Amino acid sequence: MRVFKFGGASVKDANAVRNVARVLKKTGCQELVVVISAMGKTTNALEKIVDSYLQNDSDLKERIEYLYQYHLTILKELFENEQHSIYTKVRDLFSDLSTTLDRNKSRQYDYIYDQIVCYGELVSTTIISAYLNENELINDWLDARELIKTDASYRDAEVDWERTQRIILDKINTNGLTITQGFIGSDTNNFTTTLGREGSDYTAGIFAYCLGADSVSIWKDVPGVLNGDPRVFEDTQLLTHVSYSEAIELAFYGASVIHPKTIQPLQRKEIPLFVRSFLNPDTPGTSVKKGQPLEPYIPCFIVKKDQILLSLSSLDFSFIVEENISELFGLFHKHHIKVDLIQNSAISFSVCLDDKFDQFIGLLPQLKAKFRVSYNTGVSLFTIRHFTEEAIGSLEKNKEILLKQITRETYQMVAK
Ligand code: ADP
Ligand code: ASP
Ligand code: MG
Repeated sequence: MRVFKFGGASVKDANAVRNVARVLKKTGCQELVVVISAMGKTTNALEKIVDSYLQNDSDLKERIEYLYQYHLTILKELFENEQHSIYTKVRDLFSDLSTTLDRNKSRQYDYIYDQIVCYGELVSTTIISAYLNENELINDWLDARELIKTDASYRDAEVDWERTQRIILDKINTNGLTITQGFIGSDTNNFTTTLGREGSDYTAGIFAYCLGADSVSIWKDVPGVLNGDPRVFEDTQLLTHVSYSEAIELAFYGASVIHPKTIQPLQRKEIPLFVRSFLNPDTPGTSVKKGQPLEPYIPCFIVKKDQILLSLSSLDFSFIVEENISELFGLFHKHHIKVDLIQNSAISFSVCLDDKFDQFIGLLPQLKAKFRVSYNTGVSLFTIRHFTEEAIGSLEKNKEILLKQITRETYQMVAK
């Protein structure tokens, strides 16, 4: 069995969808599960729809219609016959979305979010499955919400591995071609859950783990994992070989080419991961496997934007010790705030935080009750794995550095 994952960029328009079919024809399409994300920037558009709904904005209907028209344009390019049943299916999905909003009684943002953003993946896979069926790539479309079972932590759900594995082994035809959605699952009450933004890579990892797959390939708009995000850094180079532990470090510090949760399930069963270019499917890309040395062995640059640098010091010059630190981490955990970097001294404590769920401001009064608090928002966390003096020099140039930390393999800095 192999598992493939195609992300938003690889299915952003009709040409991209045609290219997916070409890749599948080239690589073979039996004994294959293909996990697909929402098309292009659809998830962002759905997030705006949720916001409009909750704020009673007058543009709600317009936003839904706009997203429908975007998909309709792709449909018209892919299916000339406008009587094809896919047109009804896609229209029905959009009317389900509107009905879900009309009937909703909850005011719980995270819950509503998951019930709505899932439509991006449902629509994209419905279109692509139909297109592949029309083009000799006969496939089964499966609803990932019936396969991936999670807890009810909406927007950041935890997988119930045992149940998920049992269902996946039962429902997937391991000989054929299965098309399913990334990012989404469901809780014990069958409400939709999501695995966190960019979570489709993780879905591929979940399927691979449960099926004991031979490999996972995630198809990207870059040649593979590079030693820096090409949108940010110049003259980036392809990393051809990476170990699981290196990949986890890179992803954790913010190399957004792989979702950080993807690696662990693969590593547990030693399933190789390939990061490959959907534009050049003949090139090997990057392989991620157990224990292989980084090749080429060069500094890797990572930037995580929109972080918060929080510094706390005690109000009465008492030490900041285990007890306060454990309480602080308890609070961060409770508020789904991720800690990327820690630095402490006797009476002060600094952390670089990733506040994906906009919870920090709500937490501030609790912090201020106990500590002297200062913070900077909108800062960037820069990391260099396998740094050299030259690499540090080039990164630090023209930056206002707020904090710096160096360990054996990793240089980190927070800057404005
Ligand atoms: P998907 O279409 O699967 O959602 P993403 O857009 O999430 O793909 O990931 C691909 C993008 O990741 C690339 O276009 C690139 O800008 C960015 N990226 C960040 N860090 C790296 C890196 N180290 N190597 C390659 N690409 C990277
Ligand atoms: N569509 C989701 C997102 O944009 C999941 C993914 O693409 O991986 O976050
Ligand atoms: Mg993506």
